[in-house]
Amino acid sequence: MNHSDIDILIVGAGAVGSVAAERAADKGYKVLIVERRNHIAGNCFDEVFENGVLVHKYGPHYFRTNDEDLLNYLSKFTDWIPGNYIVKSRVNGCLYPFPINLTTLEKFFRISYLNPEDAGHLLAAKRIKNQDPKNSEEFVLSRVGDELYKAFYLGYTLKQWNRHPKELDAGVCGRIPVRLNRDERYVDHKYQLMPKDGYTKMFERMLEHDNIKILVETPYQKIKDILRPRVATIYCGPLDEYYEFCFGKLPWRSLKFEFKTEKKEFVQPCVQINYPDEHSYTRTVEIKHVTGQVHPETVVSYEYPVEGEEPYYPLATCDKELISRYEHLASKEMLQKKVFFSGRLARYKYIDMDEAFNEGFHIIDHIEKEACKSVRL
Ligand SMILES: Cc1cc2nc3c(=O)[nH]c(=O)nc-3n(C[C@H](O)[C@H](O)[C@H](O)COP(=O)(O)OP(=O)(O)OC[C@H]3O[C@@H](n4cnc5c(N)ncnc54)[C@H](O)[C@@H]3O)c2cc1C
Repeated sequence: MNHSDIDILIVGAGAVGSVAAERAADKGYKVLIVERRNHIAGNCFDEVFENGVLVHKYGPHYFRTNDEDLLNYLSKFTDWIPGNYIVKSRVNGCLYPFPINLTTLEKFFRISYLNPEDAGHLLAAKRIKNQDPKNSEEFVLSRVGDELYKAFYLGYTLKQWNRHPKELDAGVCGRIPVRLNRDERYVDHKYQLMPKDGYTKMFERMLEHDNIKILVETPYQKIKDILRPRVATIYCGPLDEYYEFCFGKLPWRSLKFEFKTEKKEFVQPCVQINYPDEHSYTRTVEIKHVTGQVHPETVVSYEYPVEGEEPYYPLATCDKELISRYEHLASKEMLQKKVFFSGRLARYKYIDMDEAFNEGFHIIDHIEKEACKSVRL
């Protein structure tokens, strides 16, 4: 494929871009992906660390979904192992299961045994009733009351967002379940799995197609005036950057990761430990617990939320007017120049991997229907 022979240009080789590329290639379109990093797989990227242990470079990625069709599709590119996603929170020097469950409640309130019914009464007595919680603080108080809120949520949220939970939408803390059973899994999804050989291998197999060409270390800005795709551009980069920040920057919370090797097989009891009330990092992650890798050494990553350039989490407090001004431009771009904005950066929206894969899966059909019914190979 030469550069003048491109049907679909995809910006970003992450979850959305890679699935979109595979779908398009499978339908016969010639696809070029430009990726500004030196690797594919976006934030799902995993790599072998200096001591031989597989790590998740951009934070732990726990694949979970309820969508069987998506799972069947991804299974063309990987086998799976069970996702052993167990998280504990360290509060006052003790480890508690997190999300809060019966064991957390027993340990925290020093009660020797709680059945689900008694735990329900206990929480009902602790709750600060609020039919319409307006922010994350009100939401958590209305679910678990003041003591659990202060112990498990307040400090963590302050560190993570550098904002008080009062300033954050209810949904920010509302994603985490509270359980009246002993289920210790981090999430409730039907399928909780990890690609057997890692994410990067899964993406490599997905992108192995004669109709797909990938240029890494190639920012869109470098090629945008040279390349003219025949059918469409799928842009998965930051929305404000596309428009050269003409209305100002959309704010993001960033992260810094520190990886430390340890000459032991494991150093913590589960994959993730949260630290709501100590340290400047929010969590430590020992991903070996879920990759299942057998290795005499381990690697622990320390995750520090920071202000910074690298976009990780969109801020729920962001001025909605600013986003909608950019969105308005984006919708015109789609009609006039056949540029489709997709994924977490382009939509300024936190999405889990399964949502991202699904966006990639459906976007080609959408492009065919909406924009380029007449242009086919
Ligand atoms: C710390 C963290 C932990 C997470 N953990 C989980 C989890 O446990 N489970 C889960 O389901 N989801 C998790 N997610 C969400 C998951 O990372 C996203 O759902 C997924 O990465 C979104 O895919 P994407 O393709 O939209 O974006 P990305 O994966 O970010 O891919 C976008 C790509 O575009 C490239 N790019 C951007 N701008 C340009 C440009 N101008 N030119 C060229 N290339 C460009 C980027 O370099 C990047 O590779 C987590 C996210 C974060 C931040």
